[in-house]
Amino acid sequence: MTTLLSLPHAAVEAGLGTLGLNLQLLTPQYGPRVVLTAVLCTVEIECDTRMKEALCLGPECGRCLKTCPPDAVKAWDRDWPACDTHRSPYGFAKLSGHIESLIGAATAEQRRELLRSETTFNLWQSILRGAGAITGCRRCADVCPIGADYEAMLKDAVDAIPENTPEKESRLAAMVGEAGAGSGGYDAQSRWIGELKFHPRVAAKD
Ligand code: SF4
Ligand code: SF4
Repeated sequence: MTTLLSLPHAAVEAGLGTLGLNLQLLTPQYGPRVVLTAVLCTVEIECDTRMKEALCLGPECGRCLKTCPPDAVKAWDRDWPACDTHRSPYGFAKLSGHIESLIGAATAEQRRELLRSETTFNLWQSILRGAGAITGCRRCADVCPIGADYEAMLKDAVDAIPENTPEKESRLAAMVGEAGAGSGGYDAQSRWIGELKFHPRVAAKD
């Protein structure tokens, strides 16, 4: 499902921050460690203005890519279905897939095993309490070094990234220098990513 309004994009328009390599919202105060909500109203107000310079350090940093368990982080993009398997491990996609497996089970015994499986139990918990539907992976938010809170409150706990692999390092190395203007991912989102300070040749499009 898609939302009526992308809150990270609306937040950039409201001057709260800019989008990062995996399109998470980054803020100067708390990096991506913010939870957004919106109020729709008709009140005439003077808005804050959009930030022009990117907060993200780009592929030279790439900590969100290095940590991502399903390798869902792309160059200024994200494989959202792959991300959902971790950030919403017992959400709607898992539920519908599990029901399909139940319906398609070859024997009554297999169907019974699926029905009494840990997956069914976890799906029941997610329906009952939301656990696993909205409380999954936030690793990319944890390890992002942007935000005044990172150095003071997080660095000592999350500096090391155990999920990193040589393959991820190679992908990042290939991205450096190629993920700026002219690359599909950046160009599609440049208004909300902002000007990349680490690529002098790059200017954000309006
Ligand atoms: S939330 Fe988890 S799975 Fe999704 S992009 Fe971030 S690290 Fe990857
Ligand atoms: S971890 Fe690094 S590359 Fe990823 S969003 Fe944060 S600053 Fe950008």
